[in-house]
Amino acid sequence: KSTLNAVALGRAIRYTLARARARTGEWDSPMFRLAQQQFLKAAQIMGLDDNIRQRLLFPQRTQVVSFPFFRDDRSQVETVFGYRVQHVLTMGPTKGGVRYHEDVDLGEVAALATWMTWKCALMNLPYGGAKGGVRVDPTTLSSNELQRLTRRYTAEIIDIIGPDKDIPAPDMGTNEQVMAWMMDTYSQQVGYTVPTVVTGKPVVLGGSLGRREATGRGLVYMIEAAARHTGLDLQGAPAVVQGFGNVGSFTAKFLEEAGAKIVAVSDVSTGIYNPKGLGVQALIDYVAENRVLKDYPEADHVTNAELLETKCDVLALAALQNQVTAANADRIDCKILAEGANGPTSLEADETLNEKGIMIVPDVLGNAGGVTVSYFEWVQGTQNLTWTLDEINGRLKQIMLDAFDRTVQRAARDGIDMRTAALVEGVQRVTEAKLLRGLFP
Ligand code: GLU
Repeated sequence: KSTLNAVALGRAIRYTLARARARTGEWDSPMFRLAQQQFLKAAQIMGLDDNIRQRLLFPQRTQVVSFPFFRDDRSQVETVFGYRVQHVLTMGPTKGGVRYHEDVDLGEVAALATWMTWKCALMNLPYGGAKGGVRVDPTTLSSNELQRLTRRYTAEIIDIIGPDKDIPAPDMGTNEQVMAWMMDTYSQQVGYTVPTVVTGKPVVLGGSLGRREATGRGLVYMIEAAARHTGLDLQGAPAVVQGFGNVGSFTAKFLEEAGAKIVAVSDVSTGIYNPKGLGVQALIDYVAENRVLKDYPEADHVTNAELLETKCDVLALAALQNQVTAANADRIDCKILAEGANGPTSLEADETLNEKGIMIVPDVLGNAGGVTVSYFEWVQGTQNLTWTLDEINGRLKQIMLDAFDRTVQRAARDGIDMRTAALVEGVQRVTEAKLLRGLFP
């Protein structure tokens, strides 16, 4: 029940892109195009001014670096590529994670930075969006190599990060230890300890209670809200979680605590299925010992495609981008699709899922718990005080439920889908700020 027909929308998007493409295409990639098209759909529905539209279509600042890297036992230098993209500098410092993955490229990082802008704006956080990435497979690195790579990458981008400039955090392939090294490298450079230059640090270095679990916890708050909204009883509700890293494992754990029955989960090595329910703690223990779910007993092993098409009430996507596409959207069989990953659903798939009446909790809403508790970490660090876990979870829940309500109301009022509604909320706030600040010079 979109207020805009698909043909008109397609024409409007092509027009804006054509106007911009004539001048630049540095970030072009499938993922960046997805982020742009989602934004343009929201912009079209809002009737957003074409000048603002052009400004928000591309990142404001981009740094691409290459640096030499030695493996422990090799004498040959490898050249590694790293990125940091700051999408909107209008709202305050920029904020976003750092991804280590063998396929990372500029377009992916730019897309992720764009989504960070809408996510922070939707949550009313005083940040614009950023993202970083290093093209490397972190599972092939020793701890020593990981440390050296992290310190060199930090040194390469040191001029554009800072507690009031741009604040990195963990993302796929990075963790608390990586943040500790980034913080140390920055601090060594300026000559004193600056905990607030990153978030997602270990607690002993000024990290926040609840940050590690925050993305999964927030996603489950949103699933509970979506269940209440659609009249779904979560008690015994079959749930599937794709991905079993930081986000997926905590999502599965909190979903189980909320009463759902986790029937299938997956990671890079395999998918596992048990209609009677998988015990999440046993899975967490197994992964702690064996690194991945491969060969997990007491379950059937399934492919990624089978996992996604499993009939369930809740499907939580907490792995990579581009998982639900035109190729499989019509076979997705859930009531709530909750995005813990960034960009897991394509534009065409969105349409199919919406037609099927599936309630989508879009990434900018679903996985915003991470950056929200990152904000709490930064606030606590800036004021040199600490909040209790109850305070943190209470505030997180309040902020996320407020964003959920605004999104649902916007969707109902404008007759648009959840993703577009969430983006409109975010884009609206950034637009207001941009107009108030005016043009320089
Ligand atoms: N990488 C996370 C995200 O995609 C968290 C970012 C942060 O905490 O700044 O939202």
